[in-house]
Amino acid sequence: MTPVHTTPDTQDPVFTVRILKMKSEFLKGFLESLEKFGKLYGPVVRNGVLKYDEVHDVDEVVLTGDWHTLLPLKKLVHPTRFDMFRFDNDGFTTDYPVVEKRVVVGVHPCEIHGLLRLDDVFLQDPVDPYYERARANTAIIGFSCLPDEACLCKSTGTDIVEEGFDLFFVDLEDYYLVWVGSSLGHDMVLENEEYFDEDVLHEDIERYIQWRAKRDSMFVTSFEFKNMPDLMELSYNSDIWDYFAEKCISCGQCTMVCPTCNCYNVVDILDVNSETTGRRERVWDSCMFVDYSLVAGGHNFRGSRADRLKLWYTHKLRAFGGEYGKPSCVGCGRCVRTCPVDINVLTVSRALLQQEVPS
Ligand code: SF4
Ligand code: SF4
Repeated sequence: MTPVHTTPDTQDPVFTVRILKMKSEFLKGFLESLEKFGKLYGPVVRNGVLKYDEVHDVDEVVLTGDWHTLLPLKKLVHPTRFDMFRFDNDGFTTDYPVVEKRVVVGVHPCEIHGLLRLDDVFLQDPVDPYYERARANTAIIGFSCLPDEACLCKSTGTDIVEEGFDLFFVDLEDYYLVWVGSSLGHDMVLENEEYFDEDVLHEDIERYIQWRAKRDSMFVTSFEFKNMPDLMELSYNSDIWDYFAEKCISCGQCTMVCPTCNCYNVVDILDVNSETTGRRERVWDSCMFVDYSLVAGGHNFRGSRADRLKLWYTHKLRAFGGEYGKPSCVGCGRCVRTCPVDINVLTVSRALLQQEVPS
């Protein structure tokens, strides 16, 4: 096969990205074939809610349109709650929450960027072994998407991906352009060569360019993302934080739905009728909770809602970028869709720009 496009790849440093085609009618058979690479996961409706979950029938996977899961993909590699290890008088036994191979289909570009940000945090020295194992066992099959009114990924530059996936499908209606991003993705193609066509022609490139233009035109919401680090710095003592603090109810939903929030707490839980045996549990935490910064002696470093909001937005829009080179907001729009009192990157950025925000 002849590559028509090459870019560096982070899933597999020696691999060169290439692009193929697949007719839409082959998708179902291809997805069914992936079970040999791991248990299939994807966006499915459970109890009326769209979520990433195990797929029992590929027909139930929701792949097209402007859908968004309630919780991001992070829950599969950084579970909401799990036992880290069991302990007794003789020591401890590690317990890994994710040991099975999994293939996640239908992953949007902003989610892939979210995973890359989590990699920055959890895979740098000292590596988080729980995340590392979960990530290594999880193949990523990306899919193109269309924006809804809350999507901000065009503003954050995370509406396209060049790395972080094994395969990435762009839906051109009667066929897909398929980016192969890793040697595992290459193996998935090799196993199903009859579904793929290597001849990406000039008219396919034109179709792709038209698709990109159409998709770009569908974004109705934007914010001045690149100005945010400076404005956050300048507005550290602004009264906008008191304004938002009056409304915030410290529910923590913004942090739970954000694909790049990664804080957790660890709790030792003794077995019933035992003072020496038990388990250590790891559970998502939120810097929006009042006890997050409470320390021994009763001092709370961020006892006020204004301080907690300022911390979160400093982290999202300025501090993470200073540490890792890219801001940690990937423009998924979940905080816009979720916060019950309209505090989100959009309203905060408007306030930072001294524009009117909804009361
Ligand atoms: S800050 Fe909001 S828009 Fe940005 S990644 Fe987090 S939830 Fe998504
Ligand atoms: S900003 Fe909104 S979602 Fe976040 S804790 Fe406050 S009320 Fe909840």
